[in-house]
Amino acid sequence: MRVGVFVCECGTNIAATVSTGKVVDAALAMRDVLLAESIHYTCSDPGQRAVIDAIQKHGLTRIVIASCSPRMHENTFRRTVGRAGLNAYMMEMVNIREHCSWIHSDIDEATDKAIDLMQKGVARVRRQVPLHSTTVPVTKRVLVVGGGVAGIQAALDIADAGLPVTLVERGPSIGGNMARLDKTFPTLDCSSCILTPRMVEAAQHENIELMVSSEVEQVRGYIGNFDVDIRRKATCVDAEKCTGCMICQEKCPGKAPDEFNAGVGQSKAISIPCPQAVPLVAALRKEHCRLFIKGKCSVCKKVCPADAIDYEQEDRISTDKFGAIVVATGYELYDWREAYPDYGGGQYPDVVTSMQYERMLSASGPTGGHVQRPSDGKEPKNVVFISCVGSRDESVGRPLCCSVGCMYIAKQAILTKEHIPDSQSYVFYIDIRAGGKGYEEFTRRAQRDFGAIYLRGRVGKIYPSNGNLVVMGTDTLSAEQVELDADLVVLATGFAAAEGAGELARKLNISYDQYEFFSESHPKLRPVETTTGGVFLAGACQGPKDIPDTVAQASAAASKVLGLLSRGELETSPMVAEVNQMRCTGCFKCRDVCPYGAVEVVELRDGRQVANVIDSLCQGCGVCNVACPPAVISLKGYTDSQLIAETMELLR
Ligand SMILES: Cc1cc2nc3c(=O)[nH]c(=O)nc-3n(C[C@H](O)[C@H](O)[C@H](O)COP(=O)(O)OP(=O)(O)OC[C@H]3O[C@@H](n4cnc5c(N)ncnc54)[C@H](O)[C@@H]3O)c2cc1C
Repeated sequence: MRVGVFVCECGTNIAATVSTGKVVDAALAMRDVLLAESIHYTCSDPGQRAVIDAIQKHGLTRIVIASCSPRMHENTFRRTVGRAGLNAYMMEMVNIREHCSWIHSDIDEATDKAIDLMQKGVARVRRQVPLHSTTVPVTKRVLVVGGGVAGIQAALDIADAGLPVTLVERGPSIGGNMARLDKTFPTLDCSSCILTPRMVEAAQHENIELMVSSEVEQVRGYIGNFDVDIRRKATCVDAEKCTGCMICQEKCPGKAPDEFNAGVGQSKAISIPCPQAVPLVAALRKEHCRLFIKGKCSVCKKVCPADAIDYEQEDRISTDKFGAIVVATGYELYDWREAYPDYGGGQYPDVVTSMQYERMLSASGPTGGHVQRPSDGKEPKNVVFISCVGSRDESVGRPLCCSVGCMYIAKQAILTKEHIPDSQSYVFYIDIRAGGKGYEEFTRRAQRDFGAIYLRGRVGKIYPSNGNLVVMGTDTLSAEQVELDADLVVLATGFAAAEGAGELARKLNISYDQYEFFSESHPKLRPVETTTGGVFLAGACQGPKDIPDTVAQASAAASKVLGLLSRGELETSPMVAEVNQMRCTGCFKCRDVCPYGAVEVVELRDGRQVANVIDSLCQGCGVCNVACPPAVISLKGYTDSQLIAETMELLR
C-alpha cells in the first residue's frame, strides 16, 4: 500500500493557523505513507497537476487530501485522482480549513487537530476499496411548488425550453403576493398589468399543468427521480364546469375572511379571490359555509348556471414522477399583533399593515382604490408609516431585514399623495436601505417631489385620541420627542416564511434557517441549489426579496433544472448500502426506515427471505446501517472497519 498525503495551505486560509509542515511531518511518520507534501493551493491547476504527477511518479495507491470542506472540492479531487489513473474513490478528503484553521486561533491547537484529522483520514483510506458508479435515467418532468411570481417565472422558463412542468399552488389562484400589489417600485408600473399576462401564459402553456388548491403531501426518491404525492383539496366546485361568473359569490349568505385583500373587508364562503384570478374558478371554504356548519343552505348550487357545485367532492391524491423540484413558496407578512402591544396589538382599526394598505390603494381592492380609514370610511389626511415592525428588531426576536420595507414605504407615500393630493405622509425609519438600481433616487423622489417627511427613529407608542391616533416617537436626529396626529398608521411589517415552510422542508429533506426560510447550498456559489440534489429554490422562500431579485433567482433555478435534465441519465454515487445476505435475519427494519424505498425483499435459493439494496435508489444516507439489529448492512466507503479504524486512530 502506498499512501500519499497532500496538505493544502489554501493561501493563508489554512497556513496562517495550521502549521502545514508539522502535518506533513506527522503524515510521513505514519505506516504506509510514502509521500507527504504541502501545496499552496491544491485545487488550482498546478496544485492538481502536482497530485497527478506524484501519483504517477511514486505509484501511489491511496490519497489523502487535507484541505477544505468536501462539499467544496470532493468532486474536484476525485476527478484529479481519476485523471492520474487511480480509482476516484481511493481518495479521502479531510477538512482542516472549516474544522481547524477557520474556527481556531491557537496555532498549536489547530495544528494538533489537523494532524488528528489527517491521521484519521489515512486510517480510513487504508481500508478503502475501489468503487464504481452506475447511471440511472432521469425523469424529464419538473415540479414547481408555489405559484407566485417566482414559481410562474421558473415554470415558464422550463416549459418554454420544452419540458413538462406541474405547477402546484396551495391557494385557489396563482399570482402570490405580487398579485395583491398596486404598483411596483421603482418604476411604479401596475403590478397586475405586468403579472396577469404571465399568469395567463402559465395557465395556457401546453407544457404546464396547473394544480391550484393543491399541496405536496409526500416526496420519495432522489435527484432525477422523485415520486411526489400531491393532494388536490376539495373545493366543492367542478373546475371543468365553472365559468367564473361569480353569481355563487354574489348570492352566498356565508361571510368569510377576505384573505386576498389581507383582511380588509369580507369575502364569502364561496368566492373567487379577485377578478384577475387564474384560473377564474370559484372555491368553497367549508369552514365558513352554512351548509357544512349548520346543515342548511345550498344557495350556490341553486344559482350556479353551470351546475358546477359538488358538495360531495373529496380531496384527491395523485402521484407523479419528477426529475427536479423548484420550491417557490414565498413569504407571508409577520403577524405583529402580539409582539407590539404598544402599537395597539391589532385593536385600533386605523392601524393597518403595509399589505392592507396596498389593497386599499389598489383599484381592484375592496375600496376600489379609494383610500379610506377603516374606522369611519373617511379619507385620511395625515398618514404615518412605521418601518421595521417585526424586522430589524432584536427585542421581538426578528433581527432580519425585510429588504423591501424602505422601498415600498416610499412607494406607498408617493401613491398616497397621488390618491389624496392634500395629504401629508410621515415616515419613521431606522435608516434607509435602498440598494437596488434606481432605488436611492426613488426614495429621494418620495421626499423631494411628494413631500413625505422622514423622521429617523422608532415609534414607542400609538394611542387613540379624539377619534384619531397619536404616534409617539423619538426623532433621533434632532433628539426630540415627536407626537404626530395620525388619521391612518401603516406598519411596514417584516417577512415571515410561508405557513408550513418547515414541514415542507422536512418532506423535501432540505434545510432551513431559524425563520424557516429555506437554506441554499452555498450562499455565494450555489445560491439556488439546496443540499438535496435536484431540489432548487426560487424567490422569497429563501429569504426576503424584491420582485427583480425573485425573478432573477427563478430564472437561475430554471436554468439549473434544464442543465440537470438535459442529460439523459445521471451518475449515481457508488457509496451505497450493501447487505450481507448470508447473515441477514429478514427482520426488514432496514426497509421500514429507508426514506428512498431502496430496500427490497428477495428470496435466496434456500428459500430464506432477505433484504437487498437497489443501488440506483440508495442515496447512502446510512439510516439502514443504524437500524439493522445484527449489523449486517454496511455502507460502501463508510464500512464499520473504516469507522473503527478512524476512531482507533483518534484514540491512540
Ligand atoms: C407591502 C409589500 C409591497 C411590496 N411591493 C413591492 C414592489 O413594489 N416592488 C417589488 O419589487 N417588490 C415588492 N414587494 C415584494 C414582493 O411581494 C416579493 O418580492 C414577491 O412577491 C416574491 O414572490 P414569490 O413568488 O417569491 O413569493 P409569493 O409572492 O409569496 O408567492 C408564493 C406562492 O406560493 C404559494 N405557497 C406557499 N406555500 C405553499 C405550499 N406549501 N404549497 C404550494 N404553494 C404554496 C403561496 O400561496 C403563493 O402563491 C412588496 C412586498 C410587500 C409586503
